Amino acid sequence: MASFDPGSKVQDYLVFGEYGGVNPSVTDSSTYTFLSPDTMEALFDHEIEGCFLYSRHWNPSNKYLSNALARMEGAEAAQVTASGMAAISDTILQLCKTGDEIVASRTIYGGTYALLKNFLPRLGIRTKFVNIQDLKAVEKAVNKRTRLIFCETMSNPLLEIADLPALGEIAHAHKIQLVVDNTFSPMLFSPLELGADIVVHSLTKFINGTSDCVAGAICGSDEFIHQLLDVNSGASMLLGPVLDSYRAASILKNLHSLHIRMMKHSENAQYLAENLEQLGYRVFYPGLNSHPQHELMKELMNPGYGYGGMLALDMEDTQTASRLMVKMQQEKVGYLAVSLGYFKTLFSSPGHSTSSEIPEEERKEMGMSDGLVRISIGLDNDIERTFKRICHCLSAIGKRPLPACRPKTDLDKPRKMKV
Ligand code: PLP
Repeated sequence: MASFDPGSKVQDYLVFGEYGGVNPSVTDSSTYTFLSPDTMEALFDHEIEGCFLYSRHWNPSNKYLSNALARMEGAEAAQVTASGMAAISDTILQLCKTGDEIVASRTIYGGTYALLKNFLPRLGIRTKFVNIQDLKAVEKAVNKRTRLIFCETMSNPLLEIADLPALGEIAHAHKIQLVVDNTFSPMLFSPLELGADIVVHSLTKFINGTSDCVAGAICGSDEFIHQLLDVNSGASMLLGPVLDSYRAASILKNLHSLHIRMMKHSENAQYLAENLEQLGYRVFYPGLNSHPQHELMKELMNPGYGYGGMLALDMEDTQTASRLMVKMQQEKVGYLAVSLGYFKTLFSSPGHSTSSEIPEEERKEMGMSDGLVRISIGLDNDIERTFKRICHCLSAIGKRPLPACRPKTDLDKPRKMKV
């Protein structure tokens, strides 16, 4: 088990606002004054650091959030971006040039898959997609043109757990980088501690947690973050996906409750996963003994945060999945919407939304059925009631349990009156 405690690192660091406010002041400027042109020139020439030039490069609000994320991931440095996709594309474009190759897991977010499969070949950067669980296949796919191995710690949408120490060994034996998307599992895993070189996040999801903005982050070495922001050659600086400073300030405030939210997401998801499995459904959740990487996750996870807030339920065919999702929205289980990590429950059918970029045959090969319903479990205070609602929805579309729903926890025992 990893001994690193990202929660305490985030909280141990105190910053103050301009007038001693408990939150850092928000930067409301795109550009910054200098007392002399010489200082400005010295900044351009990398001779001095620590002052701000222009907000696409750095601004104080983005720096506060970046520093907090670096501490959370145990990284030397971090940089926030305008989206998770910007974090991924900046990282790849900084590391790869025409003629280079990437070895990527085939079970990744559909947008990342489309970037690797459809867009990057236009720049002469090719990707070999592999079953990331098959370490021999990963090793075999790496050649002298390969610059990086890309995977998600917990994959989207099948929730496979990547063996990061083993993948790190392969990458480092070939002197290439292991880039890990930790969007599904912040706090749960510390990929840099486990062998990754660079961690990317879509902050849009659990880290922000309020589904009110799109943002991303890259965490890695000081050297790499400097490269990204180099005024002459940095992908972040030159492609320009800068996060707005007001958003950075609001995400920073939400970040401080992430550890508590992850515990509750996990507790609720574990409860639903166990009970749905008990009813005979095929449930993908790494906290279940039946999950193929349950033992691996136990070995690699940071203790205390559970197994995450995502689960996938196989309803076997598209029509059944659609009927269930419509019913669950009507019965206030949550929203039929893409994305994840919101305080309310969100569900969608990946084959027809977030993974639709992946061709049907490839989805079949990776075990992603058309009836898969991906559920991001919310922070419901009464998860037994949520389970009862789901059971009611299942019954209403003609599925188990019919006619009465019996969750594993004994709902008949007297419950405390709410006062
Ligand atoms: N990585 C994962 C695992 C995702 O699920 C997503 C979006 O759903 C992204 C990256 C892209 O993030 P964003 O939408 O913030 O660009």
